[in-house]
Amino acid sequence: MSVVFDAGRRFDLHVPVLIIGAGACGLVAALAARDAGAEALVVERDATPAGSTALSSGFIPAAHTRFQRASGIADSPAQFAADIQRKNHGEADARLVEAVCQASGPAIEWLADRHGVEFVLVEGFLYPGHSALRMHAVPEKTGAALMAALQRACAAAGVDLLASGRVTTVYADTARRVRGVELERPDGSSEAVGCDALVLACSGFGGNPDMVRQHIPEIASALYFGHVGNQGDAVRWGAALGAAVKDLTAYQGHGSVATPHGILITWALLMEGGIQVNADGARFSNEHAGYSEQCLPVLEQPGGVAWSVYDERLHRLGLEFEDYRQAHSLGAIKRGATIEAFAAACGLSAAGLRATFADVERCAAAEARDPFGRDFTTKPRLAPPYYGVKVTGALFHTQGGLLVDERACVLDSRGLRFPNLFAGGGAACGLSGAHVWGYLSGNGLLSAVTLGRLAGQSAVVLAR
Ligand SMILES: Cc1cc2nc3c(=O)[nH]c(=O)nc-3n(C[C@H](O)[C@H](O)[C@H](O)COP(=O)(O)OP(=O)(O)OC[C@H]3O[C@@H](n4cnc5c(N)ncnc54)[C@H](O)[C@@H]3O)c2cc1C
Repeated sequence: MSVVFDAGRRFDLHVPVLIIGAGACGLVAALAARDAGAEALVVERDATPAGSTALSSGFIPAAHTRFQRASGIADSPAQFAADIQRKNHGEADARLVEAVCQASGPAIEWLADRHGVEFVLVEGFLYPGHSALRMHAVPEKTGAALMAALQRACAAAGVDLLASGRVTTVYADTARRVRGVELERPDGSSEAVGCDALVLACSGFGGNPDMVRQHIPEIASALYFGHVGNQGDAVRWGAALGAAVKDLTAYQGHGSVATPHGILITWALLMEGGIQVNADGARFSNEHAGYSEQCLPVLEQPGGVAWSVYDERLHRLGLEFEDYRQAHSLGAIKRGATIEAFAAACGLSAAGLRATFADVERCAAAEARDPFGRDFTTKPRLAPPYYGVKVTGALFHTQGGLLVDERACVLDSRGLRFPNLFAGGGAACGLSGAHVWGYLSGNGLLSAVTLGRLAGQSAVVLAR
C-alpha cells in the first residue's frame, strides 16, 4: 500500500468519482454520486462484494424517519446524538455526531424512496443506550440481504462496479490532490484509473493483525469476526498523504459469539432478561452496559468463554433472527427443564447457577441491588425450561480512522480539507470516541450509510 506523488502519471481510464470498497459505505456513496449527476466507479478487491456489511445484522440506526412515525415512535436527531454522546462519554466530535444524526433519517428515506431499498423498523427490544426504537433493516434482517438490496439499487442506477481489483497505490500531486489509483488483478496484472474525486470506503484495520496489535493490544488475541479484506489501507494511504487519523484505539467488540460455531447470538436475549455466567455459574458483569465492551469481561473468564442463559420466551425471540436459527440448527443452543438439567447440559456448576438465579430473583423483587448495577425489575423473570449458548468475545470492526468533517471531507491535522479526498464507514474516524465502551449499537452502519451518502454528494459538488 503506497502513495506516489506523481503529477505526470498517465491512467488507462478516467472516472469522475472513484470509490474504493463495495460495502455499505461504497455502494451508498456511489448511489449519491449518481444522483448528483456523476459517473461513479466502485473498485472492490473481492470477486463478490460483501465486506463486513454482509457479515453484519444489517441494523441501521436513524432518527425521525417515516418508519418510526408509522409505529408511533417519537425520536429526533438531537435525541439520537445525545444517546451517542452519552455512550462515548462525550469523546466524539459533537459537530460530526450532530451532522450524522441529522442526515441519518433522510438517508434511510432516500434509499427507500429513491432507490427501492425496502426498510422495516426493528421492534420488540431496545439495544443498550438507545432511548428510542430506531434500528432500520431490510425485511430479511440480515447484512447479506442489505448488501443484495444495495447492489440491486446500484445496478439500476448505472453504477459501475469493478470486482477482483485490489487498489494498491494512490497517486497524488504536490497540491494534495488525488489523481488516481493503481489496482492489482488476481492474475498479477495491474490497471491505473484516474479520477476527479476519490472516496475511501475500504473500512478499517480489523483484518490486519499487526495494526490491531499496534493500536488495540487489549483485543489483539481475540477472534476477529469482521471481513478479512479490511486491512487498514485507508488509514495507511491517508497518513501517507498527510491526513489526520483519530481514535485508532476504538473498536466494536462483541460479547456473544457462539463458540465453537462462530455465529453471532443476538444481544436482544440479554436485554430482554437473559444473563451471562461463567463455568462456575456466576455472573461477572452488567450485561446491559453494552455488547461491545462485554467482549473483554467474557474473554477474562476461565477459558475465555461464558454462557448466555435465558428461557423459552427469549428462545422464541431469538428464533426471529437468521443467525440464531442457524446456531440452533447446529446444536449450539442447549436446553434443560430445570436449573440442574440445564447446568448439566452446558457443563456448568449447578450449585453456582442456582445461587445466581436466587440472587437475580432478589434483585427482580427489589429486595437486593445487583452488584454490577443492572436493573432486573423491568423484565419478566426467567422461567423453566432454560436455554443457553456458550459464547466468546470477539473484535467486530475498528472504529478509529481518517478525520473527516460534516461533509465527509478528509482533513489534515490543522483541520484543512483535502481538495478531492473523502471517507466514510470504517475508513473514517467513527462516533464512538477512543474506547470499546464508546460504541453505541449501530454506530458502524450509521457511519457507513450516512457518511457514505455525504461522501458521494461531496465528491461531486466539492471536488469540481
Ligand atoms: C458480525 C457483525 C455484525 C455487525 N452488525 C452490525 C449492525 O447490525 N449494525 C451496525 O451498525 N453495524 C454492524 N456491524 C459493523 C458493520 O458491519 C460495519 O461498521 C460496516 O459494515 C462498515 O461498512 P463499510 O462499507 O465501511 O465496510 P465494509 O462493509 O467492510 O466494506 C469495505 C470493503 O472494502 C473492500 N476493500 C478493502 N480494501 C480494499 C482495497 N485496497 N481495494 C479494493 N477494495 C478494498 C473490502 O473487501 C470490503 O468489501 C457488524 C459487524 C460485524 C462483523
